[in-house]
Amino acid sequence: MSDHPTQLDPPGPRITPQTLRWTQALGLGPLFVRRSVLEQQGMPQSPAAAASHPLAVSVAAPMQDAPAAHAITAAAQPRSATQPPPAVFSRSNTERVSAIARMGWDELQATTQACRACKLGGSRHQAVFGSGSSQARWMIVGEAPGAEEDRQGEPFVGAAGQLLDAMLHAIGLDRRADDPQRAVYIANVLKCRPPGNRNPEPEEVAQCAPLLQRQIALLQPGLILALGRFAAQSLLGSNAPISQLRGRVHQFVGIPVIVSYHPAYLLRNPADKARVWRDLCFARNTVSRAAQD
Ligand code: SF4
Repeated sequence: MSDHPTQLDPPGPRITPQTLRWTQALGLGPLFVRRSVLEQQGMPQSPAAAASHPLAVSVAAPMQDAPAAHAITAAAQPRSATQPPPAVFSRSNTERVSAIARMGWDELQATTQACRACKLGGSRHQAVFGSGSSQARWMIVGEAPGAEEDRQGEPFVGAAGQLLDAMLHAIGLDRRADDPQRAVYIANVLKCRPPGNRNPEPEEVAQCAPLLQRQIALLQPGLILALGRFAAQSLLGSNAPISQLRGRVHQFVGIPVIVSYHPAYLLRNPADKARVWRDLCFARNTVSRAAQD
């Protein structure tokens, strides 16, 4: 793990014509391109011109809404292989947990599809294991399948999924890509839909956690992007609000974790897309720096 200080507002990724098409098509452009990036890349130079550009947003000022830069939290200290995982991953049946911890990818997926370890197994249409390349350097972790995910068997579909795709494309990532540099793997803390989209219950999280833990162990991603309060708190074993968890590099079993808002939240609160853009740039910068070490 790098000893470099983390950087909260790094240079943004190169904005390509493809990025612009994605962001424009989804109406996200104004919230995902920093004015400084536009200037760097030959787009409107003057403040007035930049401000009036359809993709411009002023987020050049230092973050006021997030904790100080390069603040590695207590939870972010590297965890050795002998240290126990977060408490949420320690409450399930020992025998089942130990069997899951030895599974390969195919067996893990089949076990998830057949799982009835919590009551959600009786109400779901199908378990949603995850999607993307098993070679991906980026792993996205959300909360739980919604109604559409339950129907299609894939995480992050529907409007929230389209927004996530646009967010990923804006930093050069694609859930359909095979190239490990561009690929992402997407999963949820819970693999089955809570009825009525209610909040997950602690026992459900405890039973499902070993499945996600094994996914992470098999993938060994370079970075986990935890989207939403529930995913962040579950992974980090924290009760802190998302506002306190953003802007820092945490760790989960030695893997960097960065926290941002869930796309479903952003659909209800579009003004926070600028904050997510900063989180994405922060994550991108963290992955790039780790690759150079
Ligand atoms: S939510 Fe997880 S633990 Fe519960 S039945 Fe589904 S896969 Fe099994």
